[in-house]
Amino acid sequence: MAVMITDNCINCGDCASECPVAAILGESDEKNPHKGERFYVKAESCVECVGHANVPRCAEACPTEGSIVWDMPYTVDFEEYYMSGNDNNVYKIREHKKKGLMLPSIKAQPFIQEIDMKSRELHVNVSL
Ligand code: SF4
Ligand code: SF4
Repeated sequence: MAVMITDNCINCGDCASECPVAAILGESDEKNPHKGERFYVKAESCVECVGHANVPRCAEACPTEGSIVWDMPYTVDFEEYYMSGNDNNVYKIREHKKKGLMLPSIKAQPFIQEIDMKSRELHVNVSL
């Protein structure tokens, strides 16, 4: 993914319209593994705003501290990580009709290289 939304989310909706790649689902979306609870960032779609903005736009728009945090890069190095969280109340990775589960080996996504792995592992707040 790159970034993830935590249970600090108040479902205000300010982030979704800011995402340049439509990676954020509302809390009532059927495809959201946290349906009825909070918004959700599609790991297989998030590009950390690389090529679109200098900082994650969702975090820039979010009014709630700790709602949007770092997650691991969506790359083959973390294939197992995303696979194990899939359909496990963490991620719901899109299944392409022909390509199958859109795991990093099918389509890796860009990520911000400067963010250290410890911050990602600990799901540190995306602070701007
Ligand atoms: S970091 Fe950028 S691409 Fe990823 S969900 Fe937020 S706004 Fe969308
Ligand atoms: S902007 Fe923040 S609080 Fe509002 S829906 Fe998005 S993650 Fe939740």
